[in-house]
Amino acid sequence: MDYLMLIDRFYPIPGEVLSGLRFGEAGGVIMEEQAARQLGLMLSKARGDGVAIKALSGYRSPEYQEKLRREDTARRIAEGLSPEEAAAQTDRYLARPLCSEHNSGLAVDLCTPSADDTEDDFFLTPQAKWLCRNAHRFGFILRYPRMKEHITGIAYEPWHYRYVGTEAASLIHQSGLCLEEFLHFYADEFSFEGLRGRMTKNEP
Ligand SMILES: [Zn+2]
Repeated sequence: MDYLMLIDRFYPIPGEVLSGLRFGEAGGVIMEEQAARQLGLMLSKARGDGVAIKALSGYRSPEYQEKLRREDTARRIAEGLSPEEAAAQTDRYLARPLCSEHNSGLAVDLCTPSADDTEDDFFLTPQAKWLCRNAHRFGFILRYPRMKEHITGIAYEPWHYRYVGTEAASLIHQSGLCLEEFLHFYADEFSFEGLRGRMTKNEP
């Protein structure tokens, strides 16, 4: 599994990656095997620090992704948007099937224990602050930061964390780069394949 794989509207998940996925479970959600193990460790460390974090959504099948998109667009139309405006808004928040990191099992949406949906003001909570300080230690990055929407193509999502492995996550955390920038800048500096090989090794 290439944990640094770029997944976005231009780079859908290749079929062979999808068919080779191995799954695990943590915090009540399904994720890719190693990502699940690391999520489990992260949630229990947070709990130990007195911060209960709930995992809301991990792996989603491409079919389920499409269903979520249809429901989101319908809701926005019901709220008064034109079908075109509603579809454009859905595109900002919910990727197309195979273009969502959730379809790879490497992404997880996190929230406070009492929430049953993602929270726009999640960034204000102790849970979000704990994650900003600690998620990289477990190999997770805040995937869609503020001020990077022009690069990621996705609005700020304080709840969406992506597993990339601890070494890459620490570099991304320290540098303030988003994943696209990280892959770009580090590709210039290192042999890209070498970097990938180094960073996709199994966690100890
Ligand atoms: Zn998400």
